[in-house]
Order: sequence, then structure tokens, then C-alpha cells
Amino acid sequence: MLNEKSYQIGNMVITCISELLLKQTTPAELFPNWNSELLSDSLSWLPPGTMDETHQHVILSVHSWLIRTPRHVILIDTGVGSNKNRPFTPAFHQLSLPYLDKLQALGVKPENVDYVLMTHLHVDHVGWNTCLKEGNWVPTFPNARYVFSKTEYEYYNNPINHIPRNKTSVIAQQDSIIPLIQAGLADMIAVDGSEWIDGLSFMPTAGHSIDHATISLSSCGQEALFIGDLLHHPLQVRYPNLNSIYDTFSEQAIASRLWVLEYASRRKPTIFCSHFPNSSVGTVTHDDQKFHWSYI
Ligand SMILES: [Zn+2]
Repeated sequence: MLNEKSYQIGNMVITCISELLLKQTTPAELFPNWNSELLSDSLSWLPPGTMDETHQHVILSVHSWLIRTPRHVILIDTGVGSNKNRPFTPAFHQLSLPYLDKLQALGVKPENVDYVLMTHLHVDHVGWNTCLKEGNWVPTFPNARYVFSKTEYEYYNNPINHIPRNKTSVIAQQDSIIPLIQAGLADMIAVDGSEWIDGLSFMPTAGHSIDHATISLSSCGQEALFIGDLLHHPLQVRYPNLNSIYDTFSEQAIASRLWVLEYASRRKPTIFCSHFPNSSVGTVTHDDQKFHWSYI
């Protein structure tokens, strides 16, 4: 179901474009270092809707973010997409999803999108970059600049990294990234925290992937922080040492998670997650040596 709630941050209006809700993953499958004591410690504060009723499974969302500023239409991450061949990831394989209809319902046609920004190049963040036309993968947003890390691109396109754990990401390059480059629409950048355009920066938060970026957008003194896959679930706000199975570089992933939680609790941006269920939007506070997540 479309989560149509929009958030006003300065002059920007930010809306979730939902794609999938995944309910089949146990905490132990998502977090290799999980233990059941963490669950009993969590039941008193874990927000409703973040696990199923029996607390056997975590609930994860897949979605992207639409940002409308007075001057630009921006998408951050583009979900898993339709018609993509994902033989190793059945939940993402050959789907037919009404993502573009949802954008259209909000008055956004593909040609209206100015920028597509990516936190990283994993399969569930690049899908709608392209769509299938007459057997070819073509950019879905023909007037957009697609912006992503040069280091991420080079990593997934270097045969030395074509190892089993990267197999789906490698396939995704072929149908969701390479066509952007061939069409001349890709801007490969250094993720260094500098201001890329007015009020927009890509902050280095590597670990989940080789050059994962946290995207900060500021307007009128207010900040929206798009944290990609630094956190998959509210459980990791309380337990930042819990890496997900998808975190490629463990120690860096923990360091980046702690960095963003500290940044969020100190500077109080509005946090926009990639996989939290419910609104996927909230704030982080810190007390008693613990971080706390509050949904907005
Ligand atoms: Zn993801």
C-alpha cells in the first residue's frame, strides 16, 4: 500500500514511494550475531509494526524517496524495479510493480525527474533506474542525471570482486547501471562530504558496501538525512553492533552506523531510512548510553 504521507523539510516535500513489504525474515537470518535475549530486551520499546505479531519475523520495507524542491524533482534510490532477472533473489525476481503509477498519482512523470541519487549500488536501490523497452534496458527517467559513487561502480565492475556474495549486485550493474552510462546520463562522483549542489552532500559511510553514501539535503536550516542501508531495522538503533547479513565490511559498517547515530542524536536531522517499515521516517536521541528511535 502506498504510504502517501509527505514530510515538509524546509522548502522540500518528501514522500515515500513504496514497493515491497518483506515479512519472511527472522532476526537470526538478518543479523548473524543475533541472540534471543535481545528480543526479550526489546519487546518493551520496539514500535508496533516492526515485527510480526508473534515476533518471529522482522518486517522490512523496500521503497524510494521522492523529493520535490521549488526547483527540482529528485529520487533517492530506486527500489528493485520491474521485469528484472534476479535468479538468486527470488523476492526481487521478475516483478511487476506499480512504482511509476505511484509517481504519476503524485503528479510526477518520468520526464519530470531531474536527479536520481543513489546511496549505493545494491540490487534493491537501483531497480527503477531502467525499464525494459523492446527488449532493451533504457533509462526510466530520460531527463535525469543519475548520481552515484565512482568507487562503488568500479568495485562491482572489477572482475576481482565478482565473488559469490556480490553475484546479484553484479547482475544489477548490467541492467540498471551500465545503460545509464551508455546513455550519457551518469555522474560518477567522489563521496567526500562536500556540497554537490546547493544544500546536498554525499557523506562517506562505507561498510555496508565499499563506498556507501549517506545523503544530506538541507533547506531553510532543516536537514533531511537519507541513511540508505546503515540501518535495516529499528533493532540496530538500540544495538548498533548488530550488522546485517548484507553488510560487506563488518567493522566499517559498525563504525559508520555509530557515526550516523551520533550525528543524528546531536544535529537532530529528520532521518529517512531505506528498509524500516511503517513510515520509515524518524529521529534519534541518546541517553543512558543508548540510542533511541522515534517514528514520525
Ligand atoms: Zn537495501
